[in-house]
Amino acid sequence: MELNLLNQEEIVTLRNLLSNATNIVICAHKSPDGDATGSSLAWMHYLNQIGKTNIKVCMPDATPDFLHWLPGHNSIIRYDRRPKEVKKAFKEADLVCCLDFNQRSRVDTMQEVLDSSKAPRLLIDHHLEPETNNALTVSHPEMSSTCEIVFRLISQLDGYEKMTTQCASCIYCGMMTDTGGFTYNSSRPEIFYIIGQLLAKNIDKDEIYNRVFHNYSTNALRLRAHIILNKMKVIEELHASYYTVTKEEMAQFHFIKGDMEGLVNIPQQIKGLKLSISLREDTEKPKTVLVSLRSCNGFHCQPMAAKFFNGGGHADASGGRLNCTIEEAEQIAIKAILYYKEELQ
Ligand code: 5GP
Ligand code: MN
Repeated sequence: MELNLLNQEEIVTLRNLLSNATNIVICAHKSPDGDATGSSLAWMHYLNQIGKTNIKVCMPDATPDFLHWLPGHNSIIRYDRRPKEVKKAFKEADLVCCLDFNQRSRVDTMQEVLDSSKAPRLLIDHHLEPETNNALTVSHPEMSSTCEIVFRLISQLDGYEKMTTQCASCIYCGMMTDTGGFTYNSSRPEIFYIIGQLLAKNIDKDEIYNRVFHNYSTNALRLRAHIILNKMKVIEELHASYYTVTKEEMAQFHFIKGDMEGLVNIPQQIKGLKLSISLREDTEKPKTVLVSLRSCNGFHCQPMAAKFFNGGGHADASGGRLNCTIEEAEQIAIKAILYYKEELQ
């Protein structure tokens, strides 16, 4: 099966970038998810495998608890906790690998550190509209996940044979989380071929599923139930739904990072639903609302994320943020739904 993504010129560029690098930084987007964290760590494992010993994985902030089992996770350096170490790593780097983000602004406040680095940049990503001012841009929005791209790159670099179970587990995790457990964005035969190749590396796929998806605290499950029961609004005639979550509600259920992960997908279980919007107050920054959008059944939420929510993402899974109160955010969501009423009907 054809897995190669790079043409001859690109593979030469990649090989040169890697062979010339000694001090390597790997970074991913703010609020790193399964794909951002999995792909960064998988790439780290691969680089270790080819003899690179000085690799720093730098993330803007925390990963959710359900990813802490990922092999190599304890080597991650958080910019919000250890800014000096991150600055030093970027300063000393002779290669910076940017995984799972398309625009440098997606690393949030870590951007100034990223921008200050003089090292060549390698971008590996699957979001739409990537920045291309890199030494090599490996951007494939048609891929399920950055982890899938990482697998294909390792394979094209002849690294599959020596791939470790740890590396394979990180890749599987990101492919699984970015496709909702292979329920969307995952219909190409190559994806299941790659899963077969990962299984041949002795990954425990059921254990990975349990660690990621069966990891709620009782409070988290009750918070999610509360939102669906008491907060979810459904505009039946427009096949759209939205909910708001306030800081007070999160405090009531002892919210920790990750507790709301994936909840925006749940309203899509309603027959015929085309759009689901999540509006959640930021627990740290005042007057900031975090927005997640999901679409299906022929509607695509990405343009809505860009036009109404200062964001973007994938065609059917996008995000953004608003600098306003949660009540104002709700009004913007209603306006956005009505703006697209023809397509949603
Ligand atoms: P989530 O809803 O899981 O936070 O994000 C869904 C998708 O939208 C992710 O692939 C993420 O990269 C993208 N996304 C989330 N927030 C933003 C944002 O503020 N700007 C852009 N361009 N994309 C975003
Ligand atoms: Mn991703």
